Amino acid sequence: MGKVLIIGAGGVGTVVAHKMASIPEVFSEIMLASRTKSKCDAIAEKIGGNRIQTAQVDADNVPELIELINSYKPDLVVNVALPYQDLTIMDACLETGVSYLDTANYEPKEEAKFEYKWQWAYQEKFKEAGLTAILGCGFDPGVTSIFTAYAAKHHFDELHYLDIVDCNAGDHGKPFATNFNPEINIREVTQKGKYWENGAWKLTEPHEIHKPLNYPEIGPKESYLIYHEELESLVKNFPTLKRARFWMTFGQEYLTHLRVIQNIGMAGIEPVQFKGMDIIPIEFLKAVLPNPGDLGENYKGQTSIGCRIKGLKDGKEKTYYIYNNCDHEDAYKETGTQAVSYTTGVPATIGAMMFLKGLWKQPGVFNVEEFNPDPFLEELNQRGLPWHELHDVDLEL
Ligand code: NDP
Repeated sequence: MGKVLIIGAGGVGTVVAHKMASIPEVFSEIMLASRTKSKCDAIAEKIGGNRIQTAQVDADNVPELIELINSYKPDLVVNVALPYQDLTIMDACLETGVSYLDTANYEPKEEAKFEYKWQWAYQEKFKEAGLTAILGCGFDPGVTSIFTAYAAKHHFDELHYLDIVDCNAGDHGKPFATNFNPEINIREVTQKGKYWENGAWKLTEPHEIHKPLNYPEIGPKESYLIYHEELESLVKNFPTLKRARFWMTFGQEYLTHLRVIQNIGMAGIEPVQFKGMDIIPIEFLKAVLPNPGDLGENYKGQTSIGCRIKGLKDGKEKTYYIYNNCDHEDAYKETGTQAVSYTTGVPATIGAMMFLKGLWKQPGVFNVEEFNPDPFLEELNQRGLPWHELHDVDLEL
């Protein structure tokens, strides 16, 4: 049915390649390209059956991207490299007339700022070119935004309160490791907290607000209010929201390491001089931390991510909780990666499928909650991430 070019061969790229290869009726031809071609080759070899072609590309370099896209001629480019590459890949897509999908919003390297403004600015260009750009199609952002759209479509007349709750109750046996790219992860969790209330953003100190939340099949876990990028598009697309917050669980051991890393300057994004060279502390830190892609082997336990919503239906107040639990060991058995890569790669694959099937194909730049959630969630159930709904529950527990 369609030809895709995946860019990025990390944990998420590994899952996308595995999943797409297992659905030949939709993904008839697949190319995996990344900065280090040997990583693409290793993934392709593991999948076998000559399903995946590979290539080397520097995705910071627009002419290189254009050359690769023109030579392969895909229907869609799936960007699972880093957020720094979003705009160069979007530029190359516009230049070559190919649609685009990613899982994280653009972030300038020199400033840890998670905002959609840079990518939303491409709206007219994609519209005029008749191309689709699907933004943020991982789990969060991604499935959490689609869960919200599903709730609005089927269960509420007005959404009032949204809490996105993200728990990783897994144990990888290492004193400190991040579950996806360390640089992006540490930049994200060390920034100030931010949430939406009564039409304005409220700022908090990092990890200032926290409380135990009860997760299905897991139990209570201390959860911290942090800013997460899907809040920006959700409050825009669901303007009846009076409050929107994002909570993530962290263990004490993780927070202690994080505090030390920050206190000694290792989370810095400004270059420092070392032996006559400029090095960026957080990039050096990434080089010495465990590779998130290698955590899977001994990872035990589950993730649980969902949306807790309160609003109005037929004039009455209603509460609703929609979530997925994913088991690290199951994810590893299927794709050789842990659940955080798995829960990102599967939605990216399904988003690409929605585009190729013509179900999510419109000219312009879209966040995933702007599309029909139903066919996506049907596939999510079939493709390894079944979801569950609870009605009229106490959301404070
Ligand atoms: P990794 O660091 O494991 O992989 C990133 C890959 O991108 C690597 O293969 C890397 O190449 C490649 N890459 C980096 N820079 C370039 C470049 N200039 N040109 C070509 N390739 C490049 O990250 P993850 O797989 O963990 O994450 C991938 C993306 O998914 C990130 O954007 C992350 O923010 C996002 N994400 C989204 C989530 C969601 O739920 N929405 C959750 C988790 C992650 P090399 O191997 O040479 O370093």
